[in-house]
Amino acid sequence: MSEEIRNVVILGSGCSGLTAAIYTGRANLKPLVLEGHEPGGQLSMTTLVENFPGWPEGIMGPELVDNMRKQAERFGAEFRMGHVSAVDIKNRPFTLTVGKEEIKTQAIIIASGASARWLGLPNEKALIGHGVSSCATCDGFFFSGKEIAVIGGGDSAMEEALFLTRFASRVTLIHRRSAFRASKIMLDRARANGKIHFLTDTVVEDVLDPAAKEVTALKLRNVVSGKVWDLPVSAMFLGIGHEPNAKMFQGLLETDDDGYLKIRDYVHTGVPGIYACGDVADRRYRQAITASGTGCMAAIEVEKYLEEVGH
Ligand code: NAP
Repeated sequence: MSEEIRNVVILGSGCSGLTAAIYTGRANLKPLVLEGHEPGGQLSMTTLVENFPGWPEGIMGPELVDNMRKQAERFGAEFRMGHVSAVDIKNRPFTLTVGKEEIKTQAIIIASGASARWLGLPNEKALIGHGVSSCATCDGFFFSGKEIAVIGGGDSAMEEALFLTRFASRVTLIHRRSAFRASKIMLDRARANGKIHFLTDTVVEDVLDPAAKEVTALKLRNVVSGKVWDLPVSAMFLGIGHEPNAKMFQGLLETDDDGYLKIRDYVHTGVPGIYACGDVADRRYRQAITASGTGCMAAIEVEKYLEEVGH
């Protein structure tokens, strides 16, 4: 087994991890990026990004993230598929277990992001990939000419609903309250789209039909009137937010009640040599540009840390 000790390992390959890779690469630290279970992060599953500075006409999310990756590779970043199953951060160098391999490193940048949340309905899991999805850009195409439901009241739900109107004959947006979390511009766009119909104060109780191995209807309940009914649809897309990917650090690093890593002084986790950036530590902004910004900060902190400890 090689006794190589890396300068820095970056967990995650979304825009925070890739920005950290560009900066640590340019600092000649030869970063290793572990890509995680969603290579490219959330940007790789989105469509047009209109608010990343420098792209006046917008840029497709996958293209933006691919550009960042090429930029990191140009400066010597190494990429590896794999998911960290265990960490030892009590001893130095730190040890990360990836499959059967142990990777030793002086510093860690946690940029593992956040993953889509599910509703937890009885039949939901059985129908994932058969009409239940959290990624409109991945699966919308399969439902051309069909009626679709989107769940949620935030920007993700509006974005998914708008995107799905390209394929669906009708999109029903189902939200558990009557007030929306979405920004005004996104809500206005969705309201102005004739294919999108709103069902508010309504919750999904289950999704049918696991026996047929396809989505045929949603069981709905109006939380004000108590009315229950079935809405025939061919797909259910979730747009109900995300969970931080920080379980491997549970009990080792400080987290808030929802599992987001707690940071101080911008990107410090409280353990010297370990920094967190992007959505795994950000429940407030969660934008590509803020994730990139904190990725840059984490990289600069790693440079300083390695200098201080003499590596
Ligand atoms: P979010 O703002 O947290 O909204 C999640 C929505 O899902 C809320 O309306 C919430 O309902 C609902 N929800 C959560 N759990 C639910 C459950 N178990 N059952 C039913 N409904 C549930 O998340 P997001 O929409 O993913 O947005 C996250 C951040 O990314 C925001 O800052 C947003 O602005 C940003 N974003 C921006 C864009 C864009 O600008 N193009 C696109 C996507 C996301 P309640 O309201 O009742 O809590």
